[in-house]
Amino acid sequence: MPSPVPSRPHRQVIRGARLWSQDPEIGELPKADVLIEEDRIAAVAADLGPLDAEEIPARDRILLPGFVDTHRHTWQSLVRHMSTDWTLPQYFSGVRGVLGKVYEPDDMYAANLVGMLDALDSGITTIVDWSHNNNTPEHADAAIQAVFDAGIRCVWGYGNSNDEWLPVSDVPQSRDVVRIAEKWFSSADQLVSLALAPRGPQFATKAATLQDFGLARELGIPVTVHAGDGAWGKSQPLIWMDANGLADARTTYVHGNMLTDEEFDIIARTGGSISVAPELEMHMGHGTLSTLRARDRGIPVSLSIDVCTSVGGDIFSAMRAMLAGSRYLVNLAALEKNEAVDPLPLTAVEVLGFATQGGATAAWLGDSVGSISVGKKADLVLLRTDVYGMTPMNYTAGAVVESGNAQLVDSVWVDGRRVKRDGVLVGHDFQEVRALADAARDRLLDRSGVTDPGAWQPPVYAAPDGE
Ligand SMILES: [Zn+2]
Repeated sequence: MPSPVPSRPHRQVIRGARLWSQDPEIGELPKADVLIEEDRIAAVAADLGPLDAEEIPARDRILLPGFVDTHRHTWQSLVRHMSTDWTLPQYFSGVRGVLGKVYEPDDMYAANLVGMLDALDSGITTIVDWSHNNNTPEHADAAIQAVFDAGIRCVWGYGNSNDEWLPVSDVPQSRDVVRIAEKWFSSADQLVSLALAPRGPQFATKAATLQDFGLARELGIPVTVHAGDGAWGKSQPLIWMDANGLADARTTYVHGNMLTDEEFDIIARTGGSISVAPELEMHMGHGTLSTLRARDRGIPVSLSIDVCTSVGGDIFSAMRAMLAGSRYLVNLAALEKNEAVDPLPLTAVEVLGFATQGGATAAWLGDSVGSISVGKKADLVLLRTDVYGMTPMNYTAGAVVESGNAQLVDSVWVDGRRVKRDGVLVGHDFQEVRALADAARDRLLDRSGVTDPGAWQPPVYAAPDGE
């Protein structure tokens, strides 16, 4: 599918927006101008005065750093919402046992394209694509091609094939990631970079895990790994990882719900980050949200969508779920002890930070994106406030977290390119993408034998749980 790259004027100035910079030196400004030069933020001030630049009026808009989703299995976008009413073991049976293995390379392409565009449309400018259905080298190539075509900033996490995931897997890593690194990631000057998304000690044998991590070290790439989710997360994966030298500052742990305090101390000591998928975790029984335990130890916290087979793909919903889910437990515990909670244990300001700078840090891009700071890449979101639900405007972070949605995202910049303008993605034809996704979904369901996806209830997977 052709993907015209949106033009990038030499200089653009966004005028008069309410600025939420996430930069501690700049903070929040009620009215600000931001100058973009090529791919970078060049100046931020209350009034930059006359400039030779493309003018972008932004009255009645909030300007934010682009959001970061640190864990999404984007290849599942074709089977969106099918598992909304499934348990985690059913998800494992249905998605892994039935659907994943019948994906063809074209399906990986269609799924990743529609999934990445969904993310961009809602203001996610960086995504860690947790790609764990690379059944052949052609599957991986198609998945990566779609990421490049979408125009999003992405850390593409190579996560093995469907067969390598059936737990507890002793299937050795195919090493196709070595070919992939050379073919797609030999340049550092591109929007897409590479990470390893290994099965980890919960889903693979120790020998396979050591081999997986050895490959990441061999290639010099960071690691994102599930840890502490659901029943399998009780196996104390961090204790083993730390003992084997696998816990370090280039590792992001997905979920963390059932990790012990000792395991969180290991993450804090070794410099790793956490990716919390709050809505999905509460739906599927992964355990309590790890947000507060991580934050209280100074561990960078980030947000993720995880599986859009169950939940929606926008980060506003994830922010709301994190705020409510984290407070719920503290409020409940206090109520049972007849104590008052004051102050609330987590704020909208903090959650907005997790969705931006926290995400950038967990995606190993904290120095280049995550805040509106002079010198950083121009990854930006302009959010409308001229709607009933944002009127009157009193508390910016509260308004973004509690009333933000994809339809209010007016404009999005990635690397200085305005990829969404006046509410519409640039360079992609929705009807074309929809036709591609619908046709791929139809073929996929034909091959899988699923005739009524909305009513399908797969059996419970025999093992205790999955991802
Ligand atoms: Zn996952």
